[in-house]
Amino acid sequence: MNYDVIIIGAGPGGIFTAYELSRRSGAKIAVFETGGKLTERKCPIDGERIKTCVGCPVCGIMSGFGGAGAFSDGKYNITTEFGGTLHEHIGKKAAIDLMNYVDGINLSHGGEGTKLYTTANSRIKTLCLRNGLHLLDASVRHLGTDKNYVVLGNIYEELKDRVDFYFHCPVSGVSAKDGLYTVVTPKGEFSAPVCVISAGRSGSKWMEKVCADLGLGSNSNRVDIGVRVELPYEIFSHLTDELYESKIVYRTDKFQDLVRTFCMNPRGAVVNENTNGIVTVNGHSYDDPARYTPNTNFALLVSKHFSLPFKDSNGYGESIARLSNMLGGGVLLQRFGDLIRGQRSTPKRIEESFVTPTLGATPGDLSLVIPKRILDGIVEMIYALDKIAPGTANDDTLLYGVEVKFYNMEVVTDENLETGLPGLFVIGDCGGTTHSLSQASASGVYVARHIADRFPAGAPVHNR
Ligand SMILES: Cc1cc2nc3c(=O)[nH]c(=O)nc-3n(C[C@H](O)[C@H](O)[C@H](O)COP(=O)(O)OP(=O)(O)OC[C@H]3O[C@@H](n4cnc5c(N)ncnc54)[C@H](O)[C@@H]3O)c2cc1C
Repeated sequence: MNYDVIIIGAGPGGIFTAYELSRRSGAKIAVFETGGKLTERKCPIDGERIKTCVGCPVCGIMSGFGGAGAFSDGKYNITTEFGGTLHEHIGKKAAIDLMNYVDGINLSHGGEGTKLYTTANSRIKTLCLRNGLHLLDASVRHLGTDKNYVVLGNIYEELKDRVDFYFHCPVSGVSAKDGLYTVVTPKGEFSAPVCVISAGRSGSKWMEKVCADLGLGSNSNRVDIGVRVELPYEIFSHLTDELYESKIVYRTDKFQDLVRTFCMNPRGAVVNENTNGIVTVNGHSYDDPARYTPNTNFALLVSKHFSLPFKDSNGYGESIARLSNMLGGGVLLQRFGDLIRGQRSTPKRIEESFVTPTLGATPGDLSLVIPKRILDGIVEMIYALDKIAPGTANDDTLLYGVEVKFYNMEVVTDENLETGLPGLFVIGDCGGTTHSLSQASASGVYVARHIADRFPAGAPVHNR
């Protein structure tokens, strides 16, 4: 079957490509997605009967309409300081303008009334600087998991009559011939002169194969390894009430490594994340006060880059995550006090803790899993944060491990996010250019605008 534009992946990148293209052109568009519709997506963990990841063949958290972002905290960071390097392709102003445009669409599809936080002129910045910590600049729209879901639902309702969605339809291969891209799926083969790949993090292994099959250039990327910290909401409330999310960076004394906070969830919950069968940890929170927890969680991460002879940064991160899965059957949990005293946390110690974990994880010893250099950096950072948020280094602060942020290898693309093959675009997290909702969405809008003129309304498919 023929289309003008084939989009692979219905995460933020794919959705915003389809949204913008269907508004600005007459293109016949198909979106192929491994997972299901938004309403079909479900993680079996209910906290009672099923407490940990059971390894579903297609992860309901990572795949389906909305991509990895569907059940996320819906934090749209409008910044070029983190969340990707889209600005290196398209320029800082264009990147920020597009992120603001995406914000406007989210607001008009159910996100109205949500708060936009900003670090500008924040006194917290001064407090951080005085303690060797650096607060990165950003505006943060917090939709919350619940509103994020509503926004996605509304966008789908608007798109479904303009775009052909193929759910439960993983693309196994992409080939290029005579100016057309053909994708192979369980529902048959489809072709188009333009193909936008937006397969996200869950599509990282598959993307490596596509690069090899089509001879696309790629570079290895970094991997971030660390823990998720959970503590009483009150300890960080002076930061989270004002900024919601604060990205704070610290350079360790011991190794001069950078450790940073990531994905802060005030009154949120810690959750499992399953990437290609490996269970790691993440977090989210709800906008609805009825769903608040007494805790705040955030990640502390250290980036590792490898060059020759070892280039497989993701493989390194996977091995560490596998080790935690081997020892704990999933995610490990340890009290900070136990870690410092060199003793494992036991179910009894966790039960007696003043902080109640929001995720059922196996009490254990993170020092048996996380390399010393990384763990030393995390411990140093916890003591540094204790100076701006006293209580962070309390014995009962909970550490879940491991949290791993896998980055796709960087696919070589030009300033239009087009690969060396004309008409083949790689956007979002999939190409290593972005790692956030805002930037992945913005990359989709950008490519859609670039190709829209090729498909005026009324022209026959494949003949434009
Ligand atoms: C639990 C969690 C919380 C997060 N919270 C935040 C947050 O608050 N703020 C933030 O900025 N970022 C957050 N992120 C990251 C954010 O979700 C991603 O950066 C963003 O979703 C990337 O968008 P994308 O479209 O590039 O890829 P994805 O969202 O990963 O979407 C890719 C889609 O492609 C599909 N796919 C993959 N391979 C194929 C194939 N071969 N054929 C067909 N379909 C395929 C997948 O099923 C998936 O649905 C979070 C991520 C997780 C997992």
